[in-house]
Amino acid sequence: MLDLFTIFSKGGIVLWCFQSTSHISQLFVPSVNSLIKTVILQERTGSNNNYTQDSLSLKYRLDNEFDLVFVIAFQKILQLSYVDKFLDDIQLEFRDKYKNELARKNYFMEFEFSRNFQEVLMSAEEWGRAQANIPKQMRSYNESSKSKKTVASMIEKKGNDKENKKNGKIIEPQKNGFKEVNQNNVTFNEEDLIAQNRIKMAQKMGAMNSNKLKKNKDKTPKPSPKATKQPRQWPLGGGVKDVSTLDYTKDKANNNPDNQPDIETNSEIVGQMEGNIKDIEIESDSDIDEEENDFDDKFETAAERKKKNDSKKSVFSMFKGLVGRKNLTAADMEPVLEKLKEHLVAKNVAIEIATKLCDSVSSKLDGKILGSFESVASTVKNTMIESLVQILSPKRRVDILRDAMAAKKNNKPYVISFCGVNGVGKSTNLAKICFWLIENNLRVLIAACDTFRAGAVEQLRTHTKHLNALHPAKKHNNQQMVQLYEKGYGKDAAGIAMEAINYAKEAIYDVVLVDTAGRMQDNEPLMRALTKLIKVNEPDMVLFVGEALVGNEAVDQLVKFNQALADYSSTQDPHLIDGIVLTKFDTIDDKVGAAISMTYITGQPIVFVGTGQTYTDLKSLNAKAVVAALMK
Ligand code: GDP
Repeated sequence: MLDLFTIFSKGGIVLWCFQSTSHISQLFVPSVNSLIKTVILQERTGSNNNYTQDSLSLKYRLDNEFDLVFVIAFQKILQLSYVDKFLDDIQLEFRDKYKNELARKNYFMEFEFSRNFQEVLMSAEEWGRAQANIPKQMRSYNESSKSKKTVASMIEKKGNDKENKKNGKIIEPQKNGFKEVNQNNVTFNEEDLIAQNRIKMAQKMGAMNSNKLKKNKDKTPKPSPKATKQPRQWPLGGGVKDVSTLDYTKDKANNNPDNQPDIETNSEIVGQMEGNIKDIEIESDSDIDEEENDFDDKFETAAERKKKNDSKKSVFSMFKGLVGRKNLTAADMEPVLEKLKEHLVAKNVAIEIATKLCDSVSSKLDGKILGSFESVASTVKNTMIESLVQILSPKRRVDILRDAMAAKKNNKPYVISFCGVNGVGKSTNLAKICFWLIENNLRVLIAACDTFRAGAVEQLRTHTKHLNALHPAKKHNNQQMVQLYEKGYGKDAAGIAMEAINYAKEAIYDVVLVDTAGRMQDNEPLMRALTKLIKVNEPDMVLFVGEALVGNEAVDQLVKFNQALADYSSTQDPHLIDGIVLTKFDTIDDKVGAAISMTYITGQPIVFVGTGQTYTDLKSLNAKAVVAALMK
């Protein structure tokens, strides 16, 4: 049970407070004061945001935009699994409700927040109970990455080239990245690397079972110098007869060289997506600790390395190192930041964003007094981690299920439009989102507004049939759960979307998912058409679908999409991108930088993450998991 929850400004004004009993504050006030004095005022806010004193436990969140602190306090003995979620949600709720007042720093008004507090608390407690009921699957030692390390690899860090050569592997730079060449003259192309990355990522996420991994492995295209990617031919007229038709694994193994993966499903997945979307999972803590040490080693400066070595030689010099306090300067940080920037770029963060991030860390730390036990490398790293988590954490509450339910109560369908360039996974992920909505008892109308690409309508028709087969009407009060609204090709997409929304109102569909044609960000006529579709139909949410595979290109796409929506709408308050669907996350191993670039550029959250090719391969972003992978 929570004993105390309070929201105060960094200047010390209490905006709102909850106490479980009237005298509880006497017990907690000294701890809260101590938290403020020793942590918050001294900018020692690490990434775990925990503070314990005697028998009391405090958790806090800083809101740097509005200069607020959210603190929750409870007895240390209690294991409250939901506090982190509660703090995240309550922060968003409060910001959402009072953003205008907070922007004006109007801290002395009456904040009517009791009802919101109770609602958010109840939903977090419910979430905590649900989590407790999910049986935790522990990784066996054999499944862990540690088991794959040889003793030699743990001792010897250098000389990997030698090792690779011994194993017959040479890494050769290529125009589009790197190619691994086996000395036995078998060449692995980029697709192989993607497949391998996919497997590595799946192992880390622990999300895929070994069968599925094997399946993916089997699908790895056989090296063929002539194989080029061909668009799939979707059967005109939607001639799909049954669910298994969507499994193209067999084609691929035999005579389908196009290597274009498609959604594979079986009826066992029904029921797996009820409730909110699960987070991307993170590696076990021990692995991360190990990696953090590696990271520190990698980024420590020569002077620090010398100090460390000296300290090993003499106990006295070690003490000297520990008690030396100093102000950080930009020059101290430069070598660390330079390496950090290279590291971020190697993880696929766009170069421009990596530079900005490093500059902001530098200016945040310039002049800061280094704590007795802190090194420059770890201080810079922790500040970077904090900033990255902050960037990835949504600035407002995005709860599609709740908003769709609210729209349903008002007899209005909730409308989501999808946009993005060709082939990024718009239709596939639209279908996954549709599956999730149906699993949560919402009826969906898919508006086929890609009237451009041959086969686009048929692709959606196939998904619709498939989704209805998984969720037949007889299981839902004889109501068909998903329908396709289509008018063929060549027609005005904005008009079709409008007709679809009106039809959804009449036929009582709860959500309309609008698929739009893929378009390059520089194609003016198509960007104008997209702007028109959004302006005329005013969807509740505009989602940009982008691949996790892209680096600098992601920034260009997003900037130009947003720019076009602003320029061509000719209104003062144009509807820009509200959120991002980050697809193909399973193919990038730990090169997760696109997530940072995309959220940094738009300031909008990553609402969904596509992690594979089944309807259940849809996750929500776990900022800490992504940052851990990024900093590894
Ligand atoms: P659209 O042109 O943007 O509508 O793209 P599609 O939905 O047709 O998807 C293009 C390809 O990407 C298809 O072969 C999909 O199976 C594949 N795809 C989509 N999302 C994912 C994902 O999250 N992971 C993987 N591995 N493949 C995906």
